[in-house]
Amino acid sequence: MQLKRITIIGGGIGGLAAALALQRRGFRVSVYERAQAFREIGAGLIITANARGALRDLGVDDALAMRSSCVPVIHACDYATGAVQGSTRNRDIEARWGAATLQVHRGDLHDVLKEAVVANDPDALHAGCEFAELEQDESGVTAIFTDGRTAPGDALIGADGNTSAVRSFVFPGEAAGFNGQVAYRALIPQSLIPERVRELQMGMYAGPGRYMLFYALRGGSIMNLIGCGRATTWEAEGWSIPASNEEFEAAYADFAPHLVELIRAIPSGELFKWGLRDREPLARWVDGRVAMLGDAAHPMTPFLGQGACLALEDGLVLGRAFAASNSVEEALQRYEVARRIRGTNVQLWSREEGLALQDPNIPQRPAAARGLLEYDPATVTV
Ligand SMILES: Cc1cc2nc3c(=O)[nH]c(=O)nc-3n(C[C@H](O)[C@H](O)[C@H](O)COP(=O)(O)OP(=O)(O)OC[C@H]3O[C@@H](n4cnc5c(N)ncnc54)[C@H](O)[C@@H]3O)c2cc1C
Repeated sequence: MQLKRITIIGGGIGGLAAALALQRRGFRVSVYERAQAFREIGAGLIITANARGALRDLGVDDALAMRSSCVPVIHACDYATGAVQGSTRNRDIEARWGAATLQVHRGDLHDVLKEAVVANDPDALHAGCEFAELEQDESGVTAIFTDGRTAPGDALIGADGNTSAVRSFVFPGEAAGFNGQVAYRALIPQSLIPERVRELQMGMYAGPGRYMLFYALRGGSIMNLIGCGRATTWEAEGWSIPASNEEFEAAYADFAPHLVELIRAIPSGELFKWGLRDREPLARWVDGRVAMLGDAAHPMTPFLGQGACLALEDGLVLGRAFAASNSVEEALQRYEVARRIRGTNVQLWSREEGLALQDPNIPQRPAAARGLLEYDPATVTV
């Protein structure tokens, strides 16, 4: 298929993965990002075998693994005593699903994708471009930015996250809403980490109405800490609202002593909170020459740790769908057929898993137990 250019709105993990997948199949892409620079916040991500299949195909898996952690054992612990209740060896995950689970700094994943996109085309990325609306007809689709600039293309991919403006424009009528959960996050240098936390390297603690999770990043030099729980109050939009150690500790005071110690160890200015957003599944991901991708297509709660993994899968499958098609319409239909049911399922299962992670009496069914790691985006039919 001969195309002039594919426009991608949003330079997050999904948008960059899509850009790279398309470039590697010979397509020209332009990525437009609202922020003044292409960068990610300081936080961790768990990247499972299904997403590593996408990263391998994109040619960046080794580079990412070099910058990440690969903890030997993932522990599930009693929230109050801290006693280890279950352990999963990463070696067993690798043997069963072909790749170990990585603990990744978001900035490192973003960087390896960005570097690869720019190496293919130094002019592919455009910062400071906030999507406002679009116009499309039989000959193409034009993105219009808030400052009046425009970008014409043959297809437009909305990869602008869980409050997607592209989605609101193309599929109006339903906005992202606060889902009653507030999360805290922090990165803590190794020198400040309590001994027990350092020994475990990765631990998950499901407690009443809240859970805590920590895991080592960058080969253990920093610890990523997340606490997420039900709340009645609304938190302003954004991932980086400053929070105090005292309020975090007060909300999780009944958790194991080494977790409380970990909260106290968070350096000043390094603790942030945000209110989780959720949206209902979309009945269609495609409208004419426009398709949704990543959180814009399937915004999900973090309880299965699969949002970025699915964004990477989406990106690769989109590239493969374009390579297999004779027209934009055919490519986008192939993409939607290949991806929508999986995206919707994981979105709904993530909500369900949230109940288990915040109630010690409900059995957990993490991503592996739900069969999600078996999916290979490099070979799935498009
Ligand atoms: C607490 C927490 C923990 C998580 N842990 C994991 C995990 O362990 N594993 C995992 O796989 N996933 C995890 N996720 C989910 C993951 O972070 C997201 O699913 C992923 O970042 C989605 O990528 P995206 O590219 O679709 O969206 P985003 O990363 O949100 O990127 C969207 C981009 O679009 C830009 N943008 C927004 N509006 C506009 C506009 N109007 N015009 C132009 N650009 C715009 C934004 O600035 C941003 O750069 C977690 C999420 C949370 C909240």
